[in-house]
Amino acid sequence: MKVLVINCGSSSLKYQVLDMTNEELLCKGLVERIGLDGSIITHEKAGAAEKFKLETPMGNHKDAIGHVINAMLDKDHGVLTSMDELGAVGHRVVHAGEKFASSILITDEVKAALTECIELAPLHNPPNILGIEACQQLMPNTKMVGVFDTAFHQTMPAESYIYALPYEYYEKYGIRRYGFHGTSHKYVSERAASILGKKYEDLKIITCHLGNGASITAIKNGKSFDTSMGFTPLEGLVMGTRSGDLDPAIVTFIEEKEGLPQGGANNVLNKKSGVLGISGVSSDFRDLGDAADNGNERAKLALDVYVHRVKHYIGAYIAQLNGVDALVFTAGLGENSSDMRERICSDLDYLGIKIDPAKNDLRGKEAIISPDDAPVRVILIPTNEELTIARDTFEIVSAI
Ligand code: AMP
Repeated sequence: MKVLVINCGSSSLKYQVLDMTNEELLCKGLVERIGLDGSIITHEKAGAAEKFKLETPMGNHKDAIGHVINAMLDKDHGVLTSMDELGAVGHRVVHAGEKFASSILITDEVKAALTECIELAPLHNPPNILGIEACQQLMPNTKMVGVFDTAFHQTMPAESYIYALPYEYYEKYGIRRYGFHGTSHKYVSERAASILGKKYEDLKIITCHLGNGASITAIKNGKSFDTSMGFTPLEGLVMGTRSGDLDPAIVTFIEEKEGLPQGGANNVLNKKSGVLGISGVSSDFRDLGDAADNGNERAKLALDVYVHRVKHYIGAYIAQLNGVDALVFTAGLGENSSDMRERICSDLDYLGIKIDPAKNDLRGKEAIISPDDAPVRVILIPTNEELTIARDTFEIVSAI
């Protein structure tokens, strides 16, 4: 069965087609500037020498999906001879609240439940739902599956997800910690067990997803036990432009001092904070590394604060789990920056965490990077959210 994986943002859309008989990636692509001037699709057939690019007006997500279908069927760079070859579409959906703890076949009831979650993820769920609807209109006979960022974390115990607020806010408004990046944390933790040749259910694992958005998860016996992102993807680690944890009193304080409109602080904390806010240089760690190397003190400070917070969570989660077998690094920074992995793991030998600099000298490849005699295995694992979405989609549709 061939499966199309769709990840829809407000003005962009990423896709992949996988052949699930052998999990081979057939093509992948990106549509950018949907609904804006200069809409463009970039499509890459596996093994092809060149990418196919087409700049053409795309007023909405339905237009964008139409061009994805054209690209998949194209006689030169396509991967399907007819749409009948496509067994299912797997959709990444950010927020399923407490409604779904695993991936699910999309029905009208499921769509209604996801629509109810819009108030929990006003930026993410609307484009995700638009993508589902566009696919349903253009592929009315194809089964659709929803795969949720929040689902993996639904196993967290109440002591991990309840905020110390009046309890009725949880009951009335669903204010609790949900956690995100669940598809990635699940994929890399399962891979870690398989790399170690151990049963997933027997392990304590801490997974560090360090990309533009960043979160860290404590996984106990194959289940998410605690995670750093909360009610929204703002809590926890310092990120590219997001503050992560701070004293909540700061919100009203900066709104008053800066004369921000109501909700203005939310914009600052999401878009102008993080390593960008501290450094004033960039949200991209490559730029920060260069600036710090050139003596920029605030870029150096941003990196120091970033490392400090990740270490803080690693220590906290080792306490929560009463030990740890494996520490996993993934996503843009986690996969590519040997320097940041080394800095995060430095001076953690008391907790059994050490890095072998020679083994750590690599990017984007699965590898154990701790010394053979270290109590904790530190592992680099490139994430593959699309494969997880395709696997769940294939499994659900095959069982119908
Ligand atoms: P992601 O959200 O997983 O795509 O990660 C994107 C982030 O990864 C970028 O903002 C960069 O800061 C970081 N990144 C990617 N490649 C490198 C690299 N070679 N060194 C340091 N950071 C990197």
